[in-house]
Amino acid sequence: MNPTDPRADSAIERAAPRRHRTRQARVAWRDRVVTIGGDAPVRVQSMTNTDTADAIATAVQVKELAQAGSELVRITVNTPEAAQAVPHIREQLDRMGIDVPLIGDFHYNGHRLLADHPECARALSKYRINPGNVGKGDKHDRQFAQMIEAALRHGRPVRIGVNWGSLDQELLAALMDENARRAEPWDSRQVMYQALVRSAIGSADAACRLGMDPAQIVISCKVSGVQDLVSVYRALAARCDYPLHLGLTEAGMATKGTVASTAALALLLQEGIGDTIRVSLTPQPGEARTQEVAIALEVLQALGLRTFNPSVTACPGCGRTTSTVFQELAQSIDGFLRAQMPLWKARYPGVEAMKVAVMGCIVNGPGESKHADIGISLPGTGEAPAAPVFIDGVKAVTLRGDTIAQEFQRIVEDYVARRYAGQAPS
Ligand code: SF4
Repeated sequence: MNPTDPRADSAIERAAPRRHRTRQARVAWRDRVVTIGGDAPVRVQSMTNTDTADAIATAVQVKELAQAGSELVRITVNTPEAAQAVPHIREQLDRMGIDVPLIGDFHYNGHRLLADHPECARALSKYRINPGNVGKGDKHDRQFAQMIEAALRHGRPVRIGVNWGSLDQELLAALMDENARRAEPWDSRQVMYQALVRSAIGSADAACRLGMDPAQIVISCKVSGVQDLVSVYRALAARCDYPLHLGLTEAGMATKGTVASTAALALLLQEGIGDTIRVSLTPQPGEARTQEVAIALEVLQALGLRTFNPSVTACPGCGRTTSTVFQELAQSIDGFLRAQMPLWKARYPGVEAMKVAVMGCIVNGPGESKHADIGISLPGTGEAPAAPVFIDGVKAVTLRGDTIAQEFQRIVEDYVARRYAGQAPS
């Protein structure tokens, strides 16, 4: 475009996620109420991978997930032993002061477990029902109704959670037959999308006919392909106003799982689709289960939807900075901020929105540091050994010598105490 073209002068708006309006569900444990949908923030949830029958191991993992930032934690309830353990897990958590609501994940026998173990049903704050796994033939509707009746009896919300790995085969076959009669049949993938969406919304509507308040129903349709997930959730959002649980199922491990989940969540959250998210990451051997929570928090924070922790902006480094000093400083500041957050969160409201920059050289260092609340521009190779520190966009001091890391940490600490002390929680 020619720079003299009048269009070159039009304001460029900052991108921001839209918000798709849904009803608001309430998931509670005693006084702790987590709202999902409506004008509530997008909620983070996770799932344990311990044997639920091992009440202590499961309670410990739930605690870790909750302390990492998971606002709801799902546990599988697959056997009578697991159902018997659920009230003990809840008691253990209550004793530890962990009031995170627990969600029971049921497949195949949920109708029986909820009826046979009322203590389990009471200890759970929400039930996940997979309409593809509640029974076949005439059992399907009866067993689905039994689960909804349990939810009504105990006053619990439900998630109708459809997954393409366990899609209702009878519904899929009926839709395939319907498709075959079309003058111009859809391709099989479109029939599958339709089956997922119809299974979720149809089951939710059936739950409403059984007496459920529509505001107490969350739905999900999980698939493992990014573009498939986008297609299915766009259709769900267009066709219903139930709160949507969003996540890429079986995302995989490590970089692949992280990137695929982030891409899928970001595309939909930017369109305002998704009221609660879960990152289904396969942990690498030895990796903490809490990694899935850390990724979910980072996705929401990167999109500007929520703020959880101060962010550290660091450049990637290049041939202008051949030492690892700035990488080490960026890592140590990031670790320091995270370690301080449990204390700071209570003492310094608003600190989670703080931006810190740690930059490698003079090229972008001073500029990026000025954009941050507090930033340091380290000397690149061949530059004078001085590191200017910028506070609120103004150069405040220049650090030199071997104690730059410690001094910068102290400056950050002082800044937090001065800037955020006594601020009202937002
Ligand atoms: S700020 Fe300097 S060191 Fe960092 S990437 Fe840019 S040019 Fe390289």
